[in-house]
Amino acid sequence: MGKVYAGVDLGGTTAKLGLFKEDASLIRKWEIPTRKEDGGKHVTPDIADSIKKHMEEAGIAMEDLAGAGIGVPGPIRPDGYVEVIVNIGMRDWNPVKELSELLGGIPVKGGNDANVAALGEMWQGGGKGYRDVVAVTLGTGVGGGVILDGRIVAGSKGMGGEIGHMVMDWNWPEPEACNCGNYGCLEQIASATGIARIARRFMKESDKPSVLREKENVTAKDVFDAAKAGDELAEEVADYCMLYLARALAYISQVIDPEIFVIGGGVSKAGQYLLDLIRKHYDPLIVLTKEKAKLALATLGNDAGIYGAAKMVMDSLE
Ligand SMILES: [Zn+2]
Repeated sequence: MGKVYAGVDLGGTTAKLGLFKEDASLIRKWEIPTRKEDGGKHVTPDIADSIKKHMEEAGIAMEDLAGAGIGVPGPIRPDGYVEVIVNIGMRDWNPVKELSELLGGIPVKGGNDANVAALGEMWQGGGKGYRDVVAVTLGTGVGGGVILDGRIVAGSKGMGGEIGHMVMDWNWPEPEACNCGNYGCLEQIASATGIARIARRFMKESDKPSVLREKENVTAKDVFDAAKAGDELAEEVADYCMLYLARALAYISQVIDPEIFVIGGGVSKAGQYLLDLIRKHYDPLIVLTKEKAKLALATLGNDAGIYGAAKMVMDSLE
């Protein structure tokens, strides 16, 4: 079998886990519930026990486990210390140290979940073959992860890649606050919830007929489905939202100049139509080079985190 690496993607409801061979092949993957009770003190032991159980079931000796990586839903310091994970209610926790102790002292690496997922997409997903990758997740919020020269750029305070809270809209007096408290964040425009919100706004501000008006609760998927079918109002909404995303990507390019943007999350199911819209608005903003950044769809879905976590510890052992 050779050496084996565990990848853990801790979420507020479940932890996803996977065992990988050195050649990136996935041996098995599974999920366990995240037990939030007692201040989250069961979380790390549950993960360690589950890894041991699945190693045994797969007939792999514990000596072959060369390392484990874990992505956590919050900021994590380079030594693994986590001050707080809001959606699990954990404080003063060091998953890296704890997991290493519980797994017999093997090397463990920790990272923020969005950054770790970006590393996964670079390794085996939409960014495969590239070293300078920015991953953007368009889901309930807008997440991001920056990989430069194959390494996660977490920043001095772990805030690197938090592109969802770049304030993009200064011109329109935005009456609604973002979850972060600011007004006009990218997340309020280009996330799934943001796109639905902009659709409601456009419907209110015009009398244009649209199939979107027949929907009780309009979603981002409704917007893209209707836009693809030629619904004019839906086209305007999609175009507006992707204009702001493209501007954000252009700003990122001016700072770190990635080779490729990998777009994931529920909204990315709109596929090539989405990429074409981003391309249309992005390219004219990049004038210093003819070679524009590539755009690709994420391919690993919910598995990006376990891939990235395993890759993170592999890289640390090189
Ligand atoms: Zn915000």
